[in-house]
Amino acid sequence: MLNIDLHCHSNVSDGLLSPAEVVRRAAAQGVQVLALTDHDDVAGLEEAREPARETNLHFVNGVEISTSWGNHTLHVLGLNIDPAHAGLQAGLEGIRQGRAERATRIAAKFDELGIEGSLAGAYAMATNKGLIGRMHFARFLVEFGYVKNLRTVFKKYLVKGKPGYVTHQWAPLAEAVSWIRDSGGIAVLAHPGRYQIGRMRMEELLAEFKEIGGGGIEVVTSSHTPEMVSTFADLSQRFGFLASRGSDFHGPGENIIELGRLPNLPEKCQPVWHAWGEAVAA
Ligand code: AMP
Ligand code: MN
Ligand code: MN
Ligand code: MN
Repeated sequence: MLNIDLHCHSNVSDGLLSPAEVVRRAAAQGVQVLALTDHDDVAGLEEAREPARETNLHFVNGVEISTSWGNHTLHVLGLNIDPAHAGLQAGLEGIRQGRAERATRIAAKFDELGIEGSLAGAYAMATNKGLIGRMHFARFLVEFGYVKNLRTVFKKYLVKGKPGYVTHQWAPLAEAVSWIRDSGGIAVLAHPGRYQIGRMRMEELLAEFKEIGGGGIEVVTSSHTPEMVSTFADLSQRFGFLASRGSDFHGPGENIIELGRLPNLPEKCQPVWHAWGEAVAA
């Protein structure tokens, strides 16, 4: 079986390595097909192409789009997209502006808590100043000794119900799916096991995702337990979704899971890369 990793981040979003470093590391880990899927930005894809060619790795253009579905924030991977597509670019630009605005509200929360300078601090942690996120705030808090590690920052401050959390409207799910499809890509629901959504509501989500043009779901990913892998393998089959596999790697030391180091997809799944034909024959 090919070693395929269709979900990871560079410092164009909230990863630690440059796009070229991500590709070289993936190749060194034995990954043969890689999609770089930065949050809400496609700016890293061009830099990745040359090192991918040099290391003989099949590179897939990707993105991970932040969306809203009711009160839920859902991440949707766009795989095999055309990064130059105007509609997709405009959509992502809007989300990035929303991130900048959200960052000022997050910083105001930290000001209230007596933690000052978090906006400038978070931006100092971001390589790409156009893409600011919670991870940059988290790194600032760790670096300045407010909290001992990233895990604890999220748990203590940055998740729903905690004092540094703010609600935010992302792109409507259906719009994000249509940008991905219009640009020639396939829309894949990322890490479905991570959302706080009960079984009934999850099935409603998958039915709706299918109806609006969603093409796949991530079945094997680092945040899924073996039970979740089994559940979403079943659901992918029932709803007729292609299945994806991706590490969600953000950087050395920040993830337990290395690029490409994941279980294979369960046999019953239809791999998403089969849709890409001979270029990626498994
Ligand atoms: P954002 O899209 O800016 O709201 O930030 C979401 C990102 O924060 C995710 O992509 C992860 O990289 C990171 N993240 C979210 N929740 C956690 C958590 N509980 N622990 C560590 N990192 C997290
Ligand atoms: Mn992230
Ligand atoms: Mn995600
Ligand atoms: Mn991700």
